[in-house]
Amino acid sequence: MDKAASYVRVSSKEQKEHGYSLQAQKKLLSTYAKSKGLTISKEYEEAETAKKAGRTQFKQMIKYLKANPSVQHILVEKTYRLYRNFRDLVTIHDLERNIHLVKEGTIIGPESRSHDKFIHDIKIVLAKNYIDNLSEETSKGMRAKAELGLWPSFAPLGYINNRETKGIDVDFQRAPIIRNLFEEYVRGKMNLREGEKFVWERGLRTRKGNLVSKSNIYKMLTNPIYIGDFKWDGVYYKGKHNPIVSRDVFEKVQGILNDRSKPRKRNHKFAFRGLLKCGSCGRPITAEIQKGKYIYYHCTRTGPKCTEKAVREEKLAEMLGEPLKRLRISEERLEWIIQALKESHEDKKRFKAEEVGKLEKEYQGLGRKIDQLYEDKLSGLIPVNFWKSKYQEYVSRQERINERIEEHRNAGEDYLENGVRILELAQKAYSIYVTQDSWEKRKILDLIHSNSVLKGGKVYMELRKAFDMIADGVVQEEKLRREKAPEEAINNNWLLR
Ligand SMILES: [Zn+2]
Repeated sequence: MDKAASYVRVSSKEQKEHGYSLQAQKKLLSTYAKSKGLTISKEYEEAETAKKAGRTQFKQMIKYLKANPSVQHILVEKTYRLYRNFRDLVTIHDLERNIHLVKEGTIIGPESRSHDKFIHDIKIVLAKNYIDNLSEETSKGMRAKAELGLWPSFAPLGYINNRETKGIDVDFQRAPIIRNLFEEYVRGKMNLREGEKFVWERGLRTRKGNLVSKSNIYKMLTNPIYIGDFKWDGVYYKGKHNPIVSRDVFEKVQGILNDRSKPRKRNHKFAFRGLLKCGSCGRPITAEIQKGKYIYYHCTRTGPKCTEKAVREEKLAEMLGEPLKRLRISEERLEWIIQALKESHEDKKRFKAEEVGKLEKEYQGLGRKIDQLYEDKLSGLIPVNFWKSKYQEYVSRQERINERIEEHRNAGEDYLENGVRILELAQKAYSIYVTQDSWEKRKILDLIHSNSVLKGGKVYMELRKAFDMIADGVVQEEKLRREKAPEEAINNNWLLR
């Protein structure tokens, strides 16, 4: 008999207002298990109370399922019993088990009806998308800070973060050592290893108290932050902070470093360069112009060492477009997706409210701590210096929480829109692709693919998760249609799977 884990949960509100019990759910699940010929090998009960909000049993179950691959089923009354938030949804999905939603009458898993699975998958795509969006919001905030000339992150060695100005100040203990390092380097006869020794002897350590390594020395010597500018996310910004090193010295150092490193070959720009790996030896596929006009793509390791043949750009573009055909969604499916979108929009709202609620609680907790601290200072329980540093710590933590609340606010706004955009892009990807030039084609591919390989003159493409799921759904739909009407069978010649 197949083994299953069952999970029941009631919230404190349900217990109080409706008298819902765990017993009723347990009974339902065990009756169901019998009817399906499943053995419940482990039961998990979660009775939430206002006091303990965490889900210890949920975590236990995840652990158990990870350790017991033979348990292939999860039994639960309804979707929302299992997934309290988006993160849960993603966690469960990654386990790749059959999830029996008993009251809803659906099983989500490898053998589930393609319709159910597809809607479920779309929910996961959007959940992941929301979480990805959150981190994007964070980086947006950092970019905005960079544009103001403020270093957005932890101060590099030689500087310290200033919580009031939100900028960085010169660290007067470490800065002179760094300045000396640059000057010594210009004087010559010092390599990176000696630079490492130089700063060690003068007492410069990383923030954790470790050795500033050779590679860190190189990073420092090339970091424009020390002349008052900085690079963030590949963009060069004029900083507002004070320099430690003069531009003259800095440029001399760059000159010495450049002389020491080997001169690099200048490369032409090719649209699909860096997109593919060689399937025979794993090296990147590069390009060159032959006979003055034809662009050929080939493995960087040519000749007898790698026998992978070169491919003309036109041919390569055609092959790269082929997997995009898999993304075309039927009208019928679009309807299902809209339904799923609406459902998951509700999930999202709940998740957002929960997360924001948690953050607000944390914020208030810090406020109480600040008050207590102030009283302790007044009554002479703690020294002023201690009060000052603790106070600043709490206030900056509050600021960070405010930023996170803001991120949630922003991430949520275009949630539905994003879902629609993913689907639209999927549906139109191929038709857009064929009408565009190589550079535009490359942009579409970058959005959609995660890994591509050239092997035996053929392209093998792995899609990004979201698009892979959509493609999967389309393939399943085709399969279903074929089963219903074999005469309509379409010869799907996908390059993958
Ligand atoms: Zn190769």
